[in-house]
Amino acid sequence: MNVVVLLGAPGAGKGTQAPLLAARLGVPVIATGDLFRAAVRDGTPLGVEARRYMDAGQLVPDEITVKLLLERLARPDAAAGVILDGFPRTAGQAEALDAALAERGTRVGAALLVDVPADELVRRLSGRWICRAAGHPYHEVSSPPRAAGVCDLDGSELYQRTDDQPATIRARMDQQLGALSQVIEHYRASGVLRTVDGLQPIEVVSNALGAELAAAGVVVAG
Ligand code: AMP
Repeated sequence: MNVVVLLGAPGAGKGTQAPLLAARLGVPVIATGDLFRAAVRDGTPLGVEARRYMDAGQLVPDEITVKLLLERLARPDAAAGVILDGFPRTAGQAEALDAALAERGTRVGAALLVDVPADELVRRLSGRWICRAAGHPYHEVSSPPRAAGVCDLDGSELYQRTDDQPATIRARMDQQLGALSQVIEHYRASGVLRTVDGLQPIEVVSNALGAELAAAGVVVAG
């Protein structure tokens, strides 16, 4: 099982890079943020609980998050491997993942950090708009849609996530950068951390991530 962890602060470009990496590896992306948003939309008890934290720009507690992730990891389409986007976000989550993978006789093959300075992250997040239908990302300045407020790819409405509104961004950033640094240290200590400069153009970042995977010995499809 190829388990690749994609690490980066909110706005580092993980959401853009994850599907590109998934295509290279031929495995699905599991994004806990998407799983939570689906649970909120479906109004499940877990979604109702998670929403309180999400709207406040806080991390959902580890107990809830780990349960959600492990359930998703157990589905058949994840058997050959996965790209994890947005998980683990705390040292506790990283340890829980290690333990779950050890039970299956495997481990994280690579933890890829998309590195972007904090000021640039705030600038990126405050202009981010997402389509309702599929979450396709746009940016007011760096990648605007052809028609304002409408997704180029599927025509659905663009919206700004509650937690992407400027007041929430700094709170989110302060909390999450602290936790992220613990996760980075976790993977540095286990020797699987690899860092890519996230200020480069999308394709350059994507190729650099692919090269790091190959260097880590993670099998790349095709
Ligand atoms: P994202 O789409 O990855 O930015 O996630 C959106 C929100 O979902 C986050 O701000 C958190 O409230 C919650 N969330 C997603 N993944 C995690 C995680 N691994 N641990 C805790 N909370 C998470």
